[in-house]
Amino acid sequence: MAVTERQVRDVQRRLEERFAEDVSLIFASHLLMLRDKTFLGAMVDLIEAGDSPPAAVLKTAKHYIDMFAQNENAYVREKAQDLKDLTLRLLWNLTSGQEARSLWRDRIVIARDLFPSDLLQMSSEGVSGLVVTSGGTTSHIAILARSLRIPLVIVDAPQLLALPEKTRILLDADRGNVFVDPAPKLVADFEATMRARRSLESDQGSMQPTSLTRDGCRIRLLANINLLSDVKIARDLAAEGIGLYRTELPFIVRSAFPSEDEQFGVYRKLVEGMPGRPVTFRTLDIGGDKTPAYLQIPVERNPALGVRSIRFCLEHREVFIPQLRAILRACVGADARIMFPMISSLEEFQEARQVLHACIAALQAEKLPHNHSPKIGMMVELPAVVELIDAFAREADFFAIGTNDLIQHILAVDRTNERVARFYVPHHPSVLRAIKRVVDAACQHGRDVSVCGDMAHEERYLPFFLGIGIRALSVDPAYLPRVQRAIGRLTLKGAESLAQQILAESRATAIEGLLEAHLHEHG
Ligand code: PEP
Ligand code: MG
Repeated sequence: MAVTERQVRDVQRRLEERFAEDVSLIFASHLLMLRDKTFLGAMVDLIEAGDSPPAAVLKTAKHYIDMFAQNENAYVREKAQDLKDLTLRLLWNLTSGQEARSLWRDRIVIARDLFPSDLLQMSSEGVSGLVVTSGGTTSHIAILARSLRIPLVIVDAPQLLALPEKTRILLDADRGNVFVDPAPKLVADFEATMRARRSLESDQGSMQPTSLTRDGCRIRLLANINLLSDVKIARDLAAEGIGLYRTELPFIVRSAFPSEDEQFGVYRKLVEGMPGRPVTFRTLDIGGDKTPAYLQIPVERNPALGVRSIRFCLEHREVFIPQLRAILRACVGADARIMFPMISSLEEFQEARQVLHACIAALQAEKLPHNHSPKIGMMVELPAVVELIDAFAREADFFAIGTNDLIQHILAVDRTNERVARFYVPHHPSVLRAIKRVVDAACQHGRDVSVCGDMAHEERYLPFFLGIGIRALSVDPAYLPRVQRAIGRLTLKGAESLAQQILAESRATAIEGLLEAHLHEHG
């Protein structure tokens, strides 16, 4: 077994250099299996009886994989996936004789499907990009790739898997295109764009501690966090706090529901990573296509509109309560904000808040240290909320506008469906007016309001946001320097006048013209 353990340690060591904390989450089940005496014992017995180490790994793993895969419990079946991942990893390390490092570096990997652990490993070893060809559940891969800044394209094109090893591939992850054996002119164009982008980025890699418009208006720049490893980047870049922590990842990457204590461990690291600055936890936004098998909910015809997010949590208190308790316990001494995703009615918000209050009371009774007065807010992601926004502003301590979902639901466009991408228009007048109404209500009631969807990092929309009164934006850490510089090029006066013109328009095309002209003039 010495070989196996050394190989696992090798993989771990490389990963730990970059993702120390995320690794312990993702590999938790692998490590547990490797510590399992029955599992290890079976391999040792086979080796002692004359099998080679790879044969022993394969035989033992196959026995357990078959056993797990036939189990009627979805949670146990999911374990088979983890075991397959672990087995492939062990076999690779035992048989390849070469460092995986040389395999992924500067390459584009095309795979039917990938495990989260593959992504972490490939990222630490310098993979250039990924193409995933399965139409299956890929949202966890997309979230991870984005956090790891690995260009990823998901296409339903299994023929790509048959491409010979050294085929030249051009991956345009911004547009979701894969070019096989691209023409030299196309490559030259892309290289020029990338050079320009890189020099812009190296220029923009540092930040001032505060963000000001040219005429001195202070804007708070916060970070969206998916992985714990994002926190250090955000702090080093002078993020003024965390405006959105997506708590889904620890749930998605594992094969078992994380316990209250395990969640507490993750959340505490997050809080400690942002000392003295606000930290906003979004409760579990799970369900739909982000449903791990162990949660066992029925398949739905239209999961994006199904039992997801806060609906799921209110139906599954056994999931919701431990998460809230873990957050409250982790937030001792912190400027803590807790918000609920996909709120659609006042009753729903009040019910979620009531559960949170009950958790505070329970922790008090149990005399467990916790934060007893977090700010309690909500994501604004559904049109239903916009109509009632004044009533919500009386109830919620703060709003975070999730433009990704808000646009999708106002315009009835699935944000992951390429075929309707042209209908996904962030500057549609209904979207912009909805955002304005939310900001007005928040300002009137003295509530904090921020934008945390992807629109927040797009330079063209900044003057509109500032012009209608937004003073806080939460963006992926990589965008922080760029957004700060873009803010520095604007004046509040100019932004307000542009916003007024935009709000008077009823056509997206006219608004686009105004935004482009302004960007051209001030960008
Ligand atoms: C949003 O909907 O804008 C948002 C920030 O949430 P997510 O992208 O996680 O759905
Ligand atoms: Mg959302």
